[in-house]
Amino acid sequence: MTALTDNLTKLDGYLARFRPHGIQNLIAGETRPAASGSVFDTVSPVDESVICPVARGGVEDIDAAAQAAKAAFPAWRDMPAAERKKILIRIAELIEARAEEIALCECWDTGQALRFMSKAALRGAANFRFFADKVTSARDGQNLRSPTLMNVTTRVPIGPVGVITPWNTPFMLSTWKIAPALAAGCTIVHKPAEFSPLTARILAEIAHEAGLPDGVWNLVNGFGEDAGRALTEHPAIKAIAFVGESRTGSMIMKQGADTLKRVHFELGGKNPVVVFDDADLDRALDAAIFMIYSLNGERCTSSSRLLVQDTIADEFEAKLIERVNNIRVGHPLDPETEIGPLIHKVHFDKVTSYFDIAKQDGATVAAGGCRVGEEGWFVRPTLFTGASTDMTIAQEEIFGPVLTAIRFADEAEALQVANDTEYGLTAYVWTNDLTRALRFTDALEAGMIWVNSENVRHLPTPFGGVKASGIGRDGGDWSFEFYMEQKHIGFALGQHKIPRLGA
Ligand code: NAD
Repeated sequence: MTALTDNLTKLDGYLARFRPHGIQNLIAGETRPAASGSVFDTVSPVDESVICPVARGGVEDIDAAAQAAKAAFPAWRDMPAAERKKILIRIAELIEARAEEIALCECWDTGQALRFMSKAALRGAANFRFFADKVTSARDGQNLRSPTLMNVTTRVPIGPVGVITPWNTPFMLSTWKIAPALAAGCTIVHKPAEFSPLTARILAEIAHEAGLPDGVWNLVNGFGEDAGRALTEHPAIKAIAFVGESRTGSMIMKQGADTLKRVHFELGGKNPVVVFDDADLDRALDAAIFMIYSLNGERCTSSSRLLVQDTIADEFEAKLIERVNNIRVGHPLDPETEIGPLIHKVHFDKVTSYFDIAKQDGATVAAGGCRVGEEGWFVRPTLFTGASTDMTIAQEEIFGPVLTAIRFADEAEALQVANDTEYGLTAYVWTNDLTRALRFTDALEAGMIWVNSENVRHLPTPFGGVKASGIGRDGGDWSFEFYMEQKHIGFALGQHKIPRLGA
């Protein structure tokens, strides 16, 4: 038996449980169909087959979930930190125990290659462990003594929060949002992306099994325009943690305005990888390829613009073309596969539309630029060369395995091009000149920058973007700035003089 057939057999076993009833919502600890009885199908991008029906939640389901989260909030907030910590650790353990199931289901639902998804499941567990460790200090504050007052601050959880997640690496991203929310003492309503609902259901089940009290974690599936919208408008929901497209973020801000929602946005990117001629070019090549073609390029932090110094551009691009043409596109459950199919036909149509746009703009399709096979949403990894910063392919987030290469003459031009985008999520800089690295990163407009490295996530560091790439930061203590309120209490140290009116 090959590894692929072995994985397909295991997947079949894991999916069997979804077939009788499909994926239902989880509200107040109860598995429920949508109140309206509506469902939609989740479809595998590998062969376009229907995986199972999914409850299509709407206003009524969101209301029930938000009320459940509100009712569960005081007891969860007040549960001793050590007990909450134990539950989060238990969630991490159960994720680890079901890592294979999560990885296989996620690959089938999203088209992501197993080689990356098996690690993503474990990263989800690591997120819970990391925030479990922070539970006991989450409420800590400061002592800011003044001459007359002992001023102390303490942090309190903001209340029930809505978590809205996208279809790219949905499992890992959901844990990244939900773990700090629970650690802070918030209760949640999770609305996962309609294109990839499988692992959100598994995750909610795990939380239930780990002993999370009913109503602390509610799951409502559905579409953005109904379930998503209702969540952002619900008065019981105090904040919305959202990961997705910049224009959806803008809609959410408007939808949440009437109820004064606090928002945290992780949005799109058009991230540059800047390669200077003094860099270690072999390592820069490995990193540039990894950061755009891994995870099908469906990755907010992908290095989708290659800025390469003209003195080395011919050599660098020639090596790049050779490597890109060698990337293995195939079945996501085959451990050899490096790129699987894109998530959905709608997204496939979007990504492939840029193949013509690139030519119309005057760029060269140096590799790829075509579909693979006739079933499923597979594309060849693609490289556009001869591009300039004003082209559509250099400005719009394509969100697929598509790299746009732009040449630059000197540092000033590299900086101008790197910053010439509405986005500002990540940037990658390759140079061995330390002073230049300092100067250049200081001027780059990005929330996260790596020098001589690919994106290596370290959980205590702040994660987030500037410009149209986001609002707020995740990671370490920064997550608690969103999920918690600061409270100040001043205690008089003695009988200081109080202004006397009307005396
Ligand atoms: P999307 O914005 O289309 O959808 C994301 C989620 O929002 C889904 O659950 C969707 O149902 C919901 N939604 C849609 N309309 C809504 C509305 N009006 N009200 C409430 N909810 C609504 O994004 P996507 O296509 O699923 O994901 C890809 C995008 O996510 C890319 O732009 C990518 O860069 C971005 N992303 C950013 C980060 C980051 O950390 N910055 C991480 C991952 C993905």
